[in-house]
Amino acid sequence: MALLENIMKTIMDKGVITSKEILSESVYKIQIQSDAVKTMDFVPGCFIRLGVGIGKKANSKNDMVRSYSIWDIDKDLNTFSLAIATHSNGIGALWAKDCMVGDTVYYKTKTGKFTVDTTANSYLMIGDLSALSHLYIINRYLSEDKKIESIIYNKNVSELYPDINNSTPFNFYDIEENNPKEIIAQIENLIPKLKGEKMAYIAGDSRLCIAINKYLRNELKWNTKQIKTKPFWNPAKKGLE
Ligand SMILES: Cc1cc2nc3c(=O)[nH]c(=O)nc-3n(C[C@H](O)[C@H](O)[C@H](O)COP(=O)(O)OP(=O)(O)OC[C@H]3O[C@@H](n4cnc5c(N)ncnc54)[C@H](O)[C@@H]3O)c2cc1C
Repeated sequence: MALLENIMKTIMDKGVITSKEILSESVYKIQIQSDAVKTMDFVPGCFIRLGVGIGKKANSKNDMVRSYSIWDIDKDLNTFSLAIATHSNGIGALWAKDCMVGDTVYYKTKTGKFTVDTTANSYLMIGDLSALSHLYIINRYLSEDKKIESIIYNKNVSELYPDINNSTPFNFYDIEENNPKEIIAQIENLIPKLKGEKMAYIAGDSRLCIAINKYLRNELKWNTKQIKTKPFWNPAKKGLE
């Protein structure tokens, strides 16, 4: 693994943790300063592959990196922030609990397709604790005239935290893991409020992403271009993507 670590250190960007805060019982905000931020091709909705296993004597390649969304970025100060949920209790969660201000980190920025799309008039944001910061940044980059409805859920609603500017633009729901029936019931309440061209962002638990995508396409006859979905985790897998 030492060879892999050395390769990763060469191909990844380097940064340092400049602050760490507890956002709620199970979520940490971590700010990273890095020279690479200046030239980063930032798009709202991009994420990093963070080398959480570097220096930890990881046993396998799968225990080396985890994905986290860029919640906020400051190109003048060369910083960006992450919000890391720890329900998973895996190496990423342990890294978030243990890391300290001053620690060196290695990461690579990724863009993908789960990024801001301003072409609709109304948006439906659906996600769990792990997806909240990603949906917050997408929301911040949509103009004021857009109609935004949301279902952000967690078993314990007090673990859900406000956005970076302390605003609370989303509706929080006390819903346990993997309960598509309850989420669909809430979607039915919200659909009449969405006007014009509609778009949904669905992220977090892969089981929910699949169920809601299926519901929107089959029952509400939305087309695939209207649905942006990104599984962030899967109960049968470690470190998705
Ligand atoms: C593009 C992308 C962006 C992401 N952005 C963020 C982010 O900003 N903040 C964030 O907190 N997470 C984010 N995630 C999710 C994060 O990468 C995963 O939750 C990751 O699996 C956590 O790693 P771990 O080592 O702690 O747990 P793993 O070792 O990967 O998993 C251990 C066990 O926990 C389960 N598990 C994983 N995540 C969760 C969860 N959230 N709740 C309950 N069980 C879980 C797994 O299925 C597995 O059984 C993102 C994922 C992707 C793909």
